[in-house]
Amino acid sequence: MTMTITKKAIATFREMLRLEEGCDCQDGSCKACRAWWDEHRVLHAELGLRPWEYPAVEWPGSECPYPPNSPAAERWEPDLAAQSRWAQLERAAQGRSTTARAAHGAARRAARKAAKRRAKHREPALT
Ligand SMILES: [Zn+2]
Repeated sequence: MTMTITKKAIATFREMLRLEEGCDCQDGSCKACRAWWDEHRVLHAELGLRPWEYPAVEWPGSECPYPPNSPAAERWEPDLAAQSRWAQLERAAQGRSTTARAAHGAARRAARKAAKRRAKHREPALT
C-alpha cells in the first residue's frame, strides 16, 4: 500500500492535530470537532483514498469506545490501515518541522481523547 503524502496532506493533518487540542466538548459537537471533519474530508481527497478507506486516519492508540461485552464492543476492531496512515503522516509532519514536534505531545493527548469520542459520534451525514 503506497500513498503519496503531499505538502497539502501534511498541512491538513497538522491542522487536524491542532483542532483536536482545541476541542472542548465530549460528544463531537463543538466547533473544533466540526472543523476536524471538514479537514478530514480534505485529507481523504488529498491522499486519493477510496470511499471505503474511511476514516482516512485513526489514532494508533485508539481503544474500543463501547461498553465492555456490548454487541458493539464485540464487533469493534481497530482500523489498522487508517492507523498506518496516521503513523505515516505523523512521521512526515515531524520530519519537516521542529515546531510540529514540540506541539506534538499535547496533540497526542488530545488525540487519545478525541479518538474515543469520535468513534461514538461518527461524522454527520456526508452532503
Ligand atoms: Zn469537540
